[in-house]
Amino acid sequence: MAGGKAVCLLIVFYLCVTAVSLPAPVIEDYDVDGGRDLDIFDINEESGLDLVEGDIVLDEKQTRNSIIGDQYRWPQTVPYYMEDDLEINAKGVILKAFEQYRLKTCIDFQPWSGEKNYISIFKGNGCYSSVGNRHVGKQRLSIGTNCDRIATIEHEFLHALGFWHEQSRSDRDDYVKIMWDRISEGKEHNFNTYDDTTSSSLGVPYDYGSMMHYSKNAFRNGTEPTIVTNIPAFSDVIGQRMEFSDSDLLKLSRSTTAVTKTSTFLDSCDFERENICGMIQGAGATADWLRVSAAAGGPTTDYSNLGKCTGKSTTRSLAVAPCKFGRQKKIPSGFPRHKRDTSTTPGGMSLDDINLSETTCPEFAWRVKNFNHVMDNTPEDEAIYSPPFTSKEGYSFQMKLYPNGTKGNPGELAVYANLVAREGDTGQKWPCPWKQITMMLMDQNPHIQKRMSNQRSVTTDPSRTTTSGALFWDDPRKVGSEVTDTDGVNTSEGRGWGPQCT
Ligand SMILES: [Zn+2]
Repeated sequence: MAGGKAVCLLIVFYLCVTAVSLPAPVIEDYDVDGGRDLDIFDINEESGLDLVEGDIVLDEKQTRNSIIGDQYRWPQTVPYYMEDDLEINAKGVILKAFEQYRLKTCIDFQPWSGEKNYISIFKGNGCYSSVGNRHVGKQRLSIGTNCDRIATIEHEFLHALGFWHEQSRSDRDDYVKIMWDRISEGKEHNFNTYDDTTSSSLGVPYDYGSMMHYSKNAFRNGTEPTIVTNIPAFSDVIGQRMEFSDSDLLKLSRSTTAVTKTSTFLDSCDFERENICGMIQGAGATADWLRVSAAAGGPTTDYSNLGKCTGKSTTRSLAVAPCKFGRQKKIPSGFPRHKRDTSTTPGGMSLDDINLSETTCPEFAWRVKNFNHVMDNTPEDEAIYSPPFTSKEGYSFQMKLYPNGTKGNPGELAVYANLVAREGDTGQKWPCPWKQITMMLMDQNPHIQKRMSNQRSVTTDPSRTTTSGALFWDDPRKVGSEVTDTDGVNTSEGRGWGPQCT
């Protein structure tokens, strides 16, 4: 690592230490999702929905053996329309999800301009989609309350693009065990499998890390998991809701380049993952895996096609290169979502005007150096604070991190963003209107297309009030708590708003 980078890290770390010495604010923070980490299926169940596999809408004509085929494909550029009823934060996150599709796949999304078939995104009673292009003209995809996180939106659009859930693959019993007696009564059908005439695996091995996999607790009737992974280490990996896995991307690549020929797993496995691409060697087998430099099927059967889109500029990835946060220690892109496996992960934050939310680069980064040490030495319900950052419009905000969770949610990493104002600040409009704050725990994979960062966004709704009736995003000098900074300047911190991360 370059010497300049090391100095930078030290400065940031120093600021963190001084921030820790500030008195804790006495006001309460607000938890997105009420402090619960709700998966898509939890949200839909609480909404009273009873859809196929929790979030799939089947139309009258659709049978489960009819999904494979070119007629269910969308064009490479998918027309979409955002309905007016969508929450503003959801609109911003949807645009961020499209950016990830553009960056990592050959799929693009453009506003509908009269095409016959298009995806209408609306605020329904939950998060759901049809599978594939149903050729119904206006095809609806719901992003309802609490569905406004990027992984949820990417997941629903993967359905719209023709993908089923990972654990419904015909070969899933080789990788997971379904605990039928722990499934809520009447929900067993959600664990059906589809044969290869319904859902092609596109020659990609079973993927515990897929965004399309249920979590271990899906549709459970008690407290015990309904899905047990054959490799125990992957028990907490299934159900990840961060970003596309490598295999999700490979499947997208193969489906959009119309490569339907089934290939063997040897074509795509890089052999660097602990699960050896999901393959398990039989107890009696004596041969070792072989790594080869080329596959018989050529570049259409391996990662060589990633990022190379027919008829599309290949410079897109170059355009986002400045977003890289320098050289970072490589960790496996499919890292488990256990908090300790995100060691030395820096945080990224951005504050966008909601109307310009196709910003691809976080404006500010807060690096927490030696994160494992911080985790081991910060008690539950104790926060560490980022230095204040000031946006172009003059709003200052701060990130507050509970490495070992809050009192109400011990053990769950929690992150909050709050506005900050200092004596003498002028020029801002209060309450702070419609700024989207994106908090990102960054994956450090140096390959930007393979990065699986954990991010959540919140938007400053100027009309939002607290339980006591105060305006949530008002001037912190009016509604926040006052602390005296180490330089003697009075600072006021507003309430924090943010997610629990798992
Ligand atoms: Zn789904």
